[in-house]
Amino acid sequence: MTPKELEIRSQFAILYEKVYSKPLVYLDNGATTQKPNRVLEKMQYVYEHLNSNVHRGVHYLSNQCTDLLEEARRVMARHINAAEEAEVIFTRGTTESINLMAFSFGETFCKAGDKIIVTEMEHHSNIVPWQMLCQRKGMTLRVLPITDEGELDIEKLDTLINEKTKLISVAHVSNVLGTVNPIKDIVAKAHSKNVPVMVDGAQSVPHMKVDVQDLDCDFLVFSGHKMYGPTGSGIFYGKRQYLDQMVPYHGGGEMIDKVSFSGTTYNVIPFKFEAGTPDYVAAIGLAEAAKFMQELGFDYIENQEHDLVQYTLSQLQGHYGVNIIGAPKQRSGSVSFLINKAHPYDVGMILDKMGVAVRTGHHCAQPLMERLGIVGTVRASFGIYNTREDVDIFVKAVRQASAMLG
Ligand code: PLP
Repeated sequence: MTPKELEIRSQFAILYEKVYSKPLVYLDNGATTQKPNRVLEKMQYVYEHLNSNVHRGVHYLSNQCTDLLEEARRVMARHINAAEEAEVIFTRGTTESINLMAFSFGETFCKAGDKIIVTEMEHHSNIVPWQMLCQRKGMTLRVLPITDEGELDIEKLDTLINEKTKLISVAHVSNVLGTVNPIKDIVAKAHSKNVPVMVDGAQSVPHMKVDVQDLDCDFLVFSGHKMYGPTGSGIFYGKRQYLDQMVPYHGGGEMIDKVSFSGTTYNVIPFKFEAGTPDYVAAIGLAEAAKFMQELGFDYIENQEHDLVQYTLSQLQGHYGVNIIGAPKQRSGSVSFLINKAHPYDVGMILDKMGVAVRTGHHCAQPLMERLGIVGTVRASFGIYNTREDVDIFVKAVRQASAMLG
């Protein structure tokens, strides 16, 4: 372990826990990451010294808390290089952000007969809200297929997009295969036909620099808890040109300009989309997590995690009856696999007993499983505190699981 790796790990108390008297090897970062002390301390500090409801108070604590929340918005805007802070809306996570989008975008811009395009590798969060919109409005969901390698077949996009297409909603990185999708190419194709693009960044923002102006995507959604921040935090980013026009998602306090029984007018963005008391402590914690990532540097994060993914592939491929699922040219964050004909759940159970935490099952991507003709996979997913030593213990556990399961 390098001094830098040791220093990073020392910021995560949970990594020193023992499971079944064994050192914890945490490879379930795609589901949620652990939180560095500074995020926990920041949130505790706010609760201990500053807690007060935001935006509505005239008193000292409320102003302090509001300043911290708005500073958090600035940090998150910088994190994704949004053109302005008002385009950054705090939510509870990716799922809530996509539901917000499906409702507000759908109600504003869509009508019967229109089409939304998603892909075959989406998480259920980026399928079901669109199906609900389609049902509500009499619209159709079109699906961009994947190749046998587990990449998007983007040539097919040209035949899918037509004058009825209202939006393309696509994962930046697959939570199962780790495939990094060519967002810039997709955006270029979509924009040439005046179709906006929403990027599900749940599995990319934790692992790489995601620059919304460089990608030129129109919307980006992601979860705080997958990028070293607290649960219940997330971001919905959208270009002002759309957000200004979109109807609100939830009604209530804070999102209004003036309320009367003869009619209500709405607040400006971002507040129009932040009804009620936001989880301001989580938002402040999320910004602390973003600063943690920024200080580590995206070069370091990307190089370290690339090394772990490549090392894992080299150790597993062709050994112990392991079949790696998908062979994308660019892979980030996750490696999915099966061992011979063993059920993924059985493999996961054996790894667990050896202190190795991985996720098994369909990973909320049942249509992808159907396409691949499998019930599920075992997924090892990496975070910035993982090391080659973790991979060595994991590979040893896979070898034993393989021997036990025949
Ligand atoms: N999209 C992708 C690609 C994901 O991997 C996940 C979670 O695993 C989600 C959406 C949903 O995220 P959340 O449960 O944090 O809302």
